[in-house]
Amino acid sequence: TNKKSIGEFFSQHLSFPFLQYKDHLHVARAERQYIYDTAGKRYLDFFAGIVTVGVGHCHPKLIDAATKQMNKYWHLSTYYLQDTVRDYAEKLLEHFKDDTGLSVCLFVNSGSEANDLALHLAKEYTKQTEVISLRNSYHGVLQSTLCLTNIAGFKRPYLTGSRVAMNPDPYRGIWGGRHCRDSPVQTTRSCNCEKDQCQASDKYIEQLDELLSHEVSKKKVAGMWIESIQGYGGSVQFPKTYVKRATELVQQNGGLYIADEVQTGFGRTGTHFWGYQAHGAKPDIVVMAKSIANGFPFAAIVTRPEIAKTIGNYFNTYGGNPIGCAVASAVLDVIKEEKLQENTLKVGTHILQRLAKLRDQLPDVVGDVRGKGLLIGMEMVTDKESRKPFPIAKMNAILDRCRENGLLLGKGGNSGNVFRIKPPMCITMEDANFAMDVLEDAIRKEL
Ligand code: PMP
Repeated sequence: TNKKSIGEFFSQHLSFPFLQYKDHLHVARAERQYIYDTAGKRYLDFFAGIVTVGVGHCHPKLIDAATKQMNKYWHLSTYYLQDTVRDYAEKLLEHFKDDTGLSVCLFVNSGSEANDLALHLAKEYTKQTEVISLRNSYHGVLQSTLCLTNIAGFKRPYLTGSRVAMNPDPYRGIWGGRHCRDSPVQTTRSCNCEKDQCQASDKYIEQLDELLSHEVSKKKVAGMWIESIQGYGGSVQFPKTYVKRATELVQQNGGLYIADEVQTGFGRTGTHFWGYQAHGAKPDIVVMAKSIANGFPFAAIVTRPEIAKTIGNYFNTYGGNPIGCAVASAVLDVIKEEKLQENTLKVGTHILQRLAKLRDQLPDVVGDVRGKGLLIGMEMVTDKESRKPFPIAKMNAILDRCRENGLLLGKGGNSGNVFRIKPPMCITMEDANFAMDVLEDAIRKEL
């Protein structure tokens, strides 16, 4: 009878950030795109365990793959040859056939660990020390990767290390917001130039060049980290030419381009399997996590042999865990068999079009709609002129209404005023329409 309620227990003995609902959601189980609470109420999950549950909760093929491996063995370390590990690496590398040279996998346990390893490799390979990441970027919570993360709230005065390049944000960029971006929906004030030849990134490239020439000083840059679409930062996209131009500039200075595909990988952007492919850029290291094993703790980097070799044989006790490899392998099969990338593009484009309509109807509240596939952001403002961030209390009220009506969403951006719409890739058109009806109704009630 003295047992604490689960709410009390969490607040006293655990340190978790929660979505700011009136009451925390107590989950009983989940199945594909749905979550069920302990009272049996069903919710459509539009945040997918923070953009991780790509093929849906409790997919039978993943359960089967994990169970089979569990019945063989769970863990042996990296000291023995294992079929499960080899088969997965082979299957993953199939997705790098066109990227000449990216042929070595290093397996770790989280996105932060993967970026930390990329940092280690970049410094070791280039024998250079300076690293660059973009304003508004998120690359992880380790001390090393927090240095690369540039989101308000994560910055600490004692964590220094990376140089910040300005992100060419078409909506809030410091050098204006008139850029074409690679999305079915454009900003309300996009440029008129050809989509494939957008030159609006000139200023940003100049700033990067300046950083490389003076601050970082030429020949000292080890690498530049870019999320192909900034995730935690609010689904921010860049003008089409920026990533290619920026990373080539870094590579000309002897640095590496590290593509952080933790959110944008595994088909989530719909048009491509990896987000960087849409930019026509050539990474030296690709970092992946989250959807890689649908929530089973597993992550990886893929790089060229000469880069991998610089640290010798990489030791990480759990790295390449066979259950993780088995699940990750099933994830690749399911994405292909169920045509989830194609579904993502179709349903995602429909959601974007519905949101763009809402933006046009409510321009003083919905400031910007952006994204690709099922990596979508909707930025809320107080009015279209000032673009001041929508108050957090109202963001939370909308989240609460959505929850009441059976829809779970995410929230992000530097000011917490961006709704993040990132469901499992198996959602249907009916799910999409249901979610948009619920969201639209919640927003209109909070006007
Ligand atoms: N990179 C990106 C782009 C991410 O979104 C995240 C997680 N939000 C990470 C790295 C860190 O991954 P993890 O939380 O698995 O350490």
